[in-house]
Amino acid sequence: MDLPKQLIDSLANVKGFDKAAFEKVHISGEQVTSIRLNPFKPSNVLTDFIDVKVPWCSDGFYLKERPSFTMDPLFHAGAYYVQEASSMFLHHAIHELIPGSKQGLKVLDLCAAPGGKSTLLASIFSEGLVVSNEVIKSRAAILVENTTKWGLPNMVVTNNDPEHFKDFVGYFDVIVVDAPCSGSGLFRKDSAAIGEWSEQNVVHCSQRQERILATILPCLKQDGILLYSTCSYSEAEDESIADWLVSHMNMESCPIKTAPSWNIITTQSPQQQAWGYRFYPYLVKGEGFYLAAFKQQQSVFGGRLKEAVLTKLTKFEIDSLATYVSNDLNAAYFKQNNAIRRVPDAFLSNIQELAGRLYIKKAGIEIGEFKGNALVPSHEWAVSVLPKNGFSILPVNKEQALLFLKRGNFISDNASIGWNWVQFDAVVLGLVKVLPNRINNYYPAEWRILKD
Ligand code: SAM
Repeated sequence: MDLPKQLIDSLANVKGFDKAAFEKVHISGEQVTSIRLNPFKPSNVLTDFIDVKVPWCSDGFYLKERPSFTMDPLFHAGAYYVQEASSMFLHHAIHELIPGSKQGLKVLDLCAAPGGKSTLLASIFSEGLVVSNEVIKSRAAILVENTTKWGLPNMVVTNNDPEHFKDFVGYFDVIVVDAPCSGSGLFRKDSAAIGEWSEQNVVHCSQRQERILATILPCLKQDGILLYSTCSYSEAEDESIADWLVSHMNMESCPIKTAPSWNIITTQSPQQQAWGYRFYPYLVKGEGFYLAAFKQQQSVFGGRLKEAVLTKLTKFEIDSLATYVSNDLNAAYFKQNNAIRRVPDAFLSNIQELAGRLYIKKAGIEIGEFKGNALVPSHEWAVSVLPKNGFSILPVNKEQALLFLKRGNFISDNASIGWNWVQFDAVVLGLVKVLPNRINNYYPAEWRILKD
């Protein structure tokens, strides 16, 4: 593994950098695998593999070895997310900076695909709203898949350029910018990234990071928190950006308490002494990562925005829905292309404001569609954490679960006629419709397991 000499040279004076240890850890071939549990889908996740906790994230665990995630139904069910351990530090940072209730807070995850940070944010801000944005269309589709499987009703996925948020002045309580970067922090996991690294790209990335931040910062409320992170070791993308945020963007640096035993290196930027937190793979069980937090010192609230008109449900639909989602007082419903969507009532007008200006890929949870008098339930509802009434539960074993996830011909003697929630362990994987002579599998074709 030939690490770029220019990178190593450029890190010589960076706090915590140890050339020999850095080279050794990259040659070692050691792989660290970690997962983060979905606190709203408790189940028996990877019981034979779970090792110790990730110290800075109460839902994070290291695994003793890497299992075949593809062949684990609970992976597809969103019972956990495979996430690099260092980046779970976001969990600790948020709890430190925003202790106590998170109710009513609006969070923007600007660079969100494939959804590691967004699913973490949705779990923490379960009483808030998480807007999860990705600019690249194909990556936004993966973000939709992962957030759908995570199943929390407090998420909105958008597919927009940061510029498109320009009217949301002073709107968000928290903005997370997990910026596109030169990626040196992932060299150990992905050696192909080494070939793509160049000094020029570091410069290009740091300029882009400033552009993204300058565009989005007006959207942060007075006293709101910015969390900026990269998986690059380069100062140009880390401490220099922190310096620039303080000197040019009038942000206030926020320290984050860490335990000495975690071996996270606390840095201060050269000009403004802005706090930053560095993760080196020879000091922590995880990959290279940098995170810094800031407070918005000055912002103007832009006022209410024009709300998009959402299609209301008919009286019949409202009355009938009660059978399926009874007494759900925290919910508001609207229709999009005939499909009924459920969003948190407290954020309905915010969702209308977002819908008025952004390209929304998914808001809340799609419940289904009335065809005639009957509700055709949707997969999104099936894999969500929302209550599921009105249909039978069909418990399946692992073999049947995998067959279901491959969209195979599903056979079961104890299925009731009609729609059934297919349940493995304690979580629902999707829906089947049982007819007198066969069972139709409604697992989404594009998400099916392709491996035998
Ligand atoms: N936060 C994600 C997670 O935890 O799973 C990883 C995000 S990745 C480091 C950076 C993301 O920024 C990519 O998905 C990339 O497509 C997106 N991106 C690239 N250029 C961008 C730009 N100019 N503005 C905003 N996002 C951009």
